[in-house]
Amino acid sequence: MQDLVSLRQENTALREENAIVREENAKLRDENTKLNKLLTTRDELKSSGPHKYFYKNGETDAPYCPKCWHRDQKEVLLPAPSKFTAGVGRQCTVCDKLYVEEPDKPLPPAIAIGNPEPRQRLFR
Ligand SMILES: [Zn+2]
Repeated sequence: MQDLVSLRQENTALREENAIVREENAKLRDENTKLNKLLTTRDELKSSGPHKYFYKNGETDAPYCPKCWHRDQKEVLLPAPSKFTAGVGRQCTVCDKLYVEEPDKPLPPAIAIGNPEPRQRLFR
């Protein structure tokens, strides 16, 4: 039964090919999902303000790191502002980029020594 043998071989080859095509299809589907998400995010994120922070859907209280977005298309929410040596700002938890929002201004020594209160008012 030569025919049966060759049919079996053909069947095996087709099964293997089918498995490869399925795998490739799954990969392409993943990639497509990723690209679609990226397109949506690109539509949603708009940069504004002096630091070019990215904001989603017009929200202004949750800035995303511009560096991470430009470099890796990664959405990284920046933490709340805190005090750094350079001033008050936000530091990205992923790329470590520091965005100084209020640079530290050295105060005249007379005020700083005479009355520490005005200095504290500078820190929000
Ligand atoms: Zn970043």
